[in-house]
Amino acid sequence: MRALTWHGKHDIRCDEVADPQIEDDRDAIVEVTSCAICGSDLHLYDGFVPGMQSGDVMGHECMGEVVEVAPGARHALKPGDRVVIPFTIFCGECWQCRRGNYSVCERSNRNASVAAKAFGRPTAGLFGYSHLTGGYAGGQAEYIRVPFADTTHVKAPSTLSDEQLLFLSDILPTGWQAAVQLGIEETDTVAVWGAGPVGQFAIRAAVLLGARQVIAIDRVPERLDMAAAGGAIPIDFAVESVMERIDDLTGGKGPEKCIDAVGLEAHVSGHLDSMYDRAKQAVMAESDRAHALREIVYLVRPAGTISIPGVYGGLVDKIPMGALMNKGITVRTGQTHVARWTDDLLCRIEEGQLDPTFVITHVADLADGPDLYRTFRDKKDGCVKVVLKP
Ligand code: NAD
Ligand code: ZN
Ligand code: ZN
Repeated sequence: MRALTWHGKHDIRCDEVADPQIEDDRDAIVEVTSCAICGSDLHLYDGFVPGMQSGDVMGHECMGEVVEVAPGARHALKPGDRVVIPFTIFCGECWQCRRGNYSVCERSNRNASVAAKAFGRPTAGLFGYSHLTGGYAGGQAEYIRVPFADTTHVKAPSTLSDEQLLFLSDILPTGWQAAVQLGIEETDTVAVWGAGPVGQFAIRAAVLLGARQVIAIDRVPERLDMAAAGGAIPIDFAVESVMERIDDLTGGKGPEKCIDAVGLEAHVSGHLDSMYDRAKQAVMAESDRAHALREIVYLVRPAGTISIPGVYGGLVDKIPMGALMNKGITVRTGQTHVARWTDDLLCRIEEGQLDPTFVITHVADLADGPDLYRTFRDKKDGCVKVVLKP
């Protein structure tokens, strides 16, 4: 089959690879009809996530049609079923899954001992996301093997298109969880750093959850326009002072609730701390560039909450712990517990309350994937979200 494979930093190829096979009793094989490139894939593309191997199949946002089901999953799935695949693989039975903490499922990461070395304790298996999270082949491919398939799927109603449903696999629940974790009150200002696809859905979630005002910080004009169309007040950090604008909008007090939808590759030109990050990253003395997170810790209102859906991979320098502790800040974070939110979000899509298709700027054949990784990374050609058809 054809698949997008990782061969090192900035080297994604559309290769012929072996078709996936049923390996375990709860597996299914899904023929992928649509898949997407995520900001998290860019961290692999740019070489910041450890544990990738040459030839790994990329992708963790996909949906399609079930073609084969192992006996242990037949009570829940049959060939022909149309499904969206959550990027967090979960068993549904372990201590964490019973509490809805699917992204830290205790059974789905087959490389748990390696993950425990990196993080102290293992986390769940993820598709197409490094051998630290199980080394499972991803969904930017014609077919995908889904472990624990009887739980790791969302049934897709035939009345909705792939484009309406695909983002239930990741970025829609990710933006939603980021906002829900803030415990938004009607008097709150919610400031969202990063107006990429995750930030866009976090903004819409914050509006739907009743925030008094929502602010979006980025430097890409079309992303700021999209944020404004979703109800946010845009701040372009390349031309305005984020601190001054936020002070103006919050009476000098700061936002009660903040979201870091940027993650480990933050950009800011000219700030001393970001130059320091780039230099340390270049000599491998630091893995993550955390300018946005530092800015958030300084600007958040005392007793406020910070939600971090943005991915960090390893060690971060110079987090202002003094500010965080003395201001009494609550921090919420995590890979998304996708299946915790999908029933509710599917209803909201069906009712027309949410239309996730607005983020899509590019639809192309899988073979165009390698070029579109670069376009998405460089934010060229107005690119916000790429959907690929295998
Ligand atoms: P993206 O790269 O398209 O978006 C990031 C945005 O941040 C860009 O628009 C960029 O211009 C902006 N940005 C960079 N530096 C900034 C700064 N200093 N201040 C404000 N904005 C800045 O990616 P995305 O798909 O939207 O994903 C965003 C993050 O969410 C990534 O780190 C991704 O890995 C992560 N993510 C996490 C989960 C999860 O389960 N927690 C799921 C999906 C994605
Ligand atoms: Zn993702
Ligand atoms: Zn589990």
